[in-house]
Amino acid sequence: MSVSITDAKSAELYARAVQRLPGGVNSPVRAMRAIGRDPIFVDRAEGAELVDVDGNRYIDYVCSWGPLVHGHAHPEILAAIIDAAHRGTTFGAPTAGEIDLAEEVGRRMPAVEMLRMTSSGTEAAMSAIRLARAATGRTTLLKFAGAYHGHVDGLLARAGSGLATAGIPTSPGVPPSAAHETIIVDWNDGEAVARACAEHEFAAILAEPYPANMGLVPPVEGFLQLLRNQADDNGALLVFDEVITGFRVGPGGAQERDGVQPDLTVMGKVIGGGLPAAAFGGARSLMEHIAPAGDVYQAGTLSGNPLAVAAGMATLRMLDEPAYLRLGATTEALAGGLRDAAAVVGVPVSVVSVPGLLTVFFSETPPRDYPAAQACDLDGYAAWCRALLARGVYPPPSQFEAWFPSLAHTSEHLDRTLDAVHAAFAELAG
Ligand code: PMP
Repeated sequence: MSVSITDAKSAELYARAVQRLPGGVNSPVRAMRAIGRDPIFVDRAEGAELVDVDGNRYIDYVCSWGPLVHGHAHPEILAAIIDAAHRGTTFGAPTAGEIDLAEEVGRRMPAVEMLRMTSSGTEAAMSAIRLARAATGRTTLLKFAGAYHGHVDGLLARAGSGLATAGIPTSPGVPPSAAHETIIVDWNDGEAVARACAEHEFAAILAEPYPANMGLVPPVEGFLQLLRNQADDNGALLVFDEVITGFRVGPGGAQERDGVQPDLTVMGKVIGGGLPAAAFGGARSLMEHIAPAGDVYQAGTLSGNPLAVAAGMATLRMLDEPAYLRLGATTEALAGGLRDAAAVVGVPVSVVSVPGLLTVFFSETPPRDYPAAQACDLDGYAAWCRALLARGVYPPPSQFEAWFPSLAHTSEHLDRTLDAVHAAFAELAG
């Protein structure tokens, strides 16, 4: 049974949008091309639910791709933003909140003794690399196929997220010299890392500790420690990009869960509580290379913006141990329900999850690297996503992404979601 939804107003807005915005959007994945449909224009959202301009209501599992760990429009976060806004939206001068936030991050991630805030994860990754190059006096980077660290020139080689979706190996406009300084190996391939380290002196080994931009592909046992050891032997810095995992998979991110400390950490999403904020940080000895303490230049008009800092602090304040237990339980229940629903109709899928993140791969076995993620049944995933949207469930409209369950998703939301999931799988199975 297929369900039809009205999307006349979204269609009207899309027709206007493509005249003024490339592809009709301000960031590629929103266009929903990977699942073969036009974008849905949002009117408003509250908690776990999103309402589009046609009045359709969805249970949202994108949640702005990660920042909204408490769901949409959480009253305490809104109050913090409004209170900050009444005192002025930006000053270009320091505020107390920036210190509070840096101290809170330091308590959660002891490796982050100092941090510098930016407005986006892309900037934070770019600046962390500049610092790694300055500190080591080297230029070459090691990164993993399918990992995404923002749209930084040198990191767009075989990146995940929107690029994986579009199947673009790198982007036109990236100078070959920038791509040449990035060596790419497959995730979870320890021998390839060792070989690359034997051949190059790296400034940094850069990794999403739980990669989520090729879908969620966690490290195999011991892999993060192997990266730590290889970086040390090579003289490279180990940089963990915890833009997605930071403050989501646990209080101190993946580095705390797996007990492997990086030299530099890139943060974003949750740290800004739904407003534009990100950061990079590490040991004081490294971070004091950054201007004006040192000579590695890095700056931003809106960096440490008071509204974003207030939203980030309010978000972190509510992320206590019980909150993480609840987020973990919600994720588990959703993952289990998805597995059961697929089993009922015999659709071969692998549901991979860590607390706060999951991916539904249309393959019998969970991928352990990017080529395996690319080999999944992407058409099957696309059809299933369309069927879910038609039933009021908003999944990530690309398999090369994670679902972002939040603390606003209740058991009632999960029940409704799983009803839709059963029906969507049944539709697929014919
Ligand atoms: N790193 C990772 C791991 C990401 O997932 C993203 C964005 N999804 C970025 C960096 C870039 O962050 P932003 O979109 O804020 O530039």
